[in-house]
Parts: sequence; structure tokens; C-alpha cells
Amino acid sequence: MSSDSPIPWFDSFLGVAYRYYEIRMNVVPLFSDLKIARKFWMDTMHWWNDHSIKIRFVETGDTYWFIMGAESRNPKNNRAIFKVLPKSPHFDRFKKGHEGTAYLRLGTYAIKFKKDVKDDAKCNCGHIKEDHEEGKDDDSCLFEDCDCKKFETFQVNLLKKKKTVSDIKFLTETEIKDDVLAWNCFSVNKYTEKR
Ligand SMILES: [Zn+2]
Ligand SMILES: [Zn+2]
Repeated sequence: MSSDSPIPWFDSFLGVAYRYYEIRMNVVPLFSDLKIARKFWMDTMHWWNDHSIKIRFVETGDTYWFIMGAESRNPKNNRAIFKVLPKSPHFDRFKKGHEGTAYLRLGTYAIKFKKDVKDDAKCNCGHIKEDHEEGKDDDSCLFEDCDCKKFETFQVNLLKKKKTVSDIKFLTETEIKDDVLAWNCFSVNKYTEKR
């Protein structure tokens, strides 16, 4: 690590969910495995001072950079996290609705199939399980205009522990030079050639 990037960047997570939960919007970095999520929380986020947590969204066309970092009471284990993600309706809703603060939680993301869910669970095609074939080998959606052949949905589970974030900014790439965290992230992860 060079001296101008003392905090290592971490991007080994799946993505970010945005959910209304307990009144406030929640920003939820997602992991595939509950144990890994818990460990990441205990090693890193647990030590963050709430008031120092910064979230930066840098919009780059159809994608955006999610960037987050904070001061830690356990600096040797501190990490900042980032991920380049496709824009989504959830992202837009968060952008419009967050009102300056959010809860930060970790979560797990799992893909579920027909056998895993209740009858009213919604498939990624938009239709519920009951509207799909019942047979073991056939999942096809029964709606004539739907070409879904396999029931598939995803489930997000939120961990209980949370932090409050009140330093949230949406930036364009030309604005990041005035923002220490976003600038550091782009310098290390975009502008510097990876070896
Ligand atoms: Zn379907
Ligand atoms: Zn369908």
C-alpha cells in the first residue's frame, strides 16, 4: 500500500440492496454467506464511528460506484468498500427518498427455486409461484404472454446490527476531485493501472 491509500479497498461482496425497514432507508451491502457477512461486520464495521461514516455514489452513465468508508477505533483492521454496480429502480428510489440519512446493515442474498418458497412468492418474471406449472420437471409460467420457463426468485435477509449514516453524497466523476474518499477510491481502483 502506498502512503496516500492507507486503508485497503474491499470489493468482495455481491452488491447493494436498498430497503425501507424501521422507517428509514437501509443501505445493505450483500454477501452470499451469512458467516462472512457477520465476520466482516465484527472485524470492520463494528469499529466504525457512526458520525464518520461516508457513503459516496458516483454516477457513471448506466452504472454507479458505491463507495463507503469511515474512521475506525481499530485502524489496523479498517477497510473501505466499493463496488461498481448497474443503476436500478431501487437505486433511483434511494437517491430520491433518503433525506440525508440511512441505516447501514449487512445482508445476505440467496437465489430461491420453486421448492424453496411459498405459493405467493413472486418469480423474477413478475408472476407468483401458483401461476407456474406444478410438475417436478416443469416450472413454466402459465401466463400466455410470459416466456418464463423456470421459477427463480431472490431473497434478501438483513442482519440486525446497524449503524446510522448521515454523510451521503451523489457525485459526478468531475466532482470527485473535491471529495477525499471518492477521489482516493478512483485513484486506486480506476486511474492507477492494476498490476
Ligand atoms: Zn416465472
Ligand atoms: Zn411469468
